[in-house]
Amino acid sequence: MRIEEDIKLDFKDVFFRPKRNDMSSRADVDLNRKLYFKYAKKEWDGIPIMTSNMDSVGTIDMYKSLSKKGLLTCFHKFYTITDFKDIELDPNYYILSTGIRDVDKERTRELINELKPKFLCIDVANGYSHKFLETVRKYREEYPELVLIGGNVVSREMVEELSLSGGLDIIKIGLGNGSVCTTRLQTGVGYPQLSAVIECSDAAHGVGTHIISDGGVQHPGDIAKAFGAGADFVMSGSLFAGHTESAGTLEEKDGVMYKSYYGMSSTTAMMKHYGKIETHRSSEGKKTMVKYKGDVEHTVQSILGGLRSCCTYIGAKTIKDIPKCATFMRVNRQVNDLFNN
Ligand code: 5GP
Repeated sequence: MRIEEDIKLDFKDVFFRPKRNDMSSRADVDLNRKLYFKYAKKEWDGIPIMTSNMDSVGTIDMYKSLSKKGLLTCFHKFYTITDFKDIELDPNYYILSTGIRDVDKERTRELINELKPKFLCIDVANGYSHKFLETVRKYREEYPELVLIGGNVVSREMVEELSLSGGLDIIKIGLGNGSVCTTRLQTGVGYPQLSAVIECSDAAHGVGTHIISDGGVQHPGDIAKAFGAGADFVMSGSLFAGHTESAGTLEEKDGVMYKSYYGMSSTTAMMKHYGKIETHRSSEGKKTMVKYKGDVEHTVQSILGGLRSCCTYIGAKTIKDIPKCATFMRVNRQVNDLFNN
């Protein structure tokens, strides 16, 4: 047994240092990013922010709203081809999801053949398993033209392995940091997200691969911090929960409207999709009720407004410039919470 003593940081542990610069308005910031994926040999242009592939937020209604704004929707893996009937999909703004079970394979093959997507996300809670790497390799062999995304992992050696021997174009980073995740409590395993992103982006960019910072965003400023740490994309579930476009019906409690939001390994999700919790596993997610926030376009405006504003404080004209302009300071308090309660 050994103990690593160096401090690992989360979004809440740092602020950007503001810097003098020549930008005069938030309108000077261009949030569109152009990326090239070396294995798929494809380009992409858009705002690199996406929903989680959770059934509460990775919905078709979410896609309809977010694609208009240039953001991506990562569909949950339980959609079938009939769900997409009569829906016009722009391959630049959605991602299909799959798992590593045999049932996932057949459904995914059918969806790929019919929809001809640009992106496919192979998603498992624990990206360190050999079966995951083998599945990634098989998808890369079978679909050389797809932009393959996979995860989750949080350490550089696995990023290098999944890129160099798996052929992933984008690797998803995050372990136990989600708002409805209980993995850290159930297993004692985790990795503070800001450090995970700093270390994994360094490894990924060295081998020509990209990363998604997945989960743990509580405020728009955390998205800016993820980009500052080197993320190429940021994924969030909780930010997109509780909207008109999120799944589920509105529920009223004491005159306030709510929508449910739950982890994909929660008892709620497992009972919904599999009808049981297998005896060898326990729930690693929870369910919560999120106050109804209306249409997602208002949230998108707040997210993008926050990001633009961050850019003008540090002198970044594009998202690509954020890490170049970023100096993070470690802090021990985020906000003045005098009136928060
Ligand atoms: P959030 O944006 O709510 O903080 O985090 C969303 C992320 O949490 C998802 O993209 C996914 O990586 C992760 N996640 C979703 N459901 C579960 C779950 O049930 N358990 C765990 N450990 N993580 C989850």
